[in-house]
Amino acid sequence: MAEPLLVAVDADDVLFEHADPFCTWINASRGTNFKPHQYLENWPKMLGVDEVEAARLRNLFLRPEIFREFPPIEGMPEAMRKLKDARGFQFVCASKRRTSLGPVTRAALDQHYPGIFEHLVCLTEVNAEGVRISSRDKIEVCVGMGAMALVDDQWEAGRAMAQAGGEGVVFNRYPMSFPEGTFPMPLGMYEVHNPHELLRHFNAA
Ligand SMILES: [Mg+2]
Repeated sequence: MAEPLLVAVDADDVLFEHADPFCTWINASRGTNFKPHQYLENWPKMLGVDEVEAARLRNLFLRPEIFREFPPIEGMPEAMRKLKDARGFQFVCASKRRTSLGPVTRAALDQHYPGIFEHLVCLTEVNAEGVRISSRDKIEVCVGMGAMALVDDQWEAGRAMAQAGGEGVVFNRYPMSFPEGTFPMPLGMYEVHNPHELLRHFNAA
């Protein structure tokens, strides 16, 4: 019998709310008025601060007691269960989260996505001061594990997966976050906007 297909799924803003609680946190901390669709992984660019200040804020935000509270995205636990049952996929959660957030992430997966994710990979390693030591490349890790697809809210991740020969499925709840001039989609790259469209993409709706 053929091995079940392995699908990699990002954590933040695919399985769990992230940009939304981030905005609540940063707006309360700094008196700003950020909206989720304005979220960028590049914090200096997003916040208009230098690297030192961005690192300080990151170390305040990237803590287990904060990430523990992120709710699952509405409809995703049901969709992931359906995908597993209907298609028999295996799933790995592949996240740029720090390895220090591994235990809280594993606990949240087990709580909200029980029995779905056999593996969790957190890609970023920091030292005791919160300075990044290393960051493994998500696509290399996914392809190395044998994943045939990656579901990710980041356009660049989807494109990189497609370029590596897999399927890059961009889970795009915040259409404003897409860079301009990126259409038409590269071969192997797809866009979905909600859990139902994700199920349809994998012929499981
Ligand atoms: Mg994400």
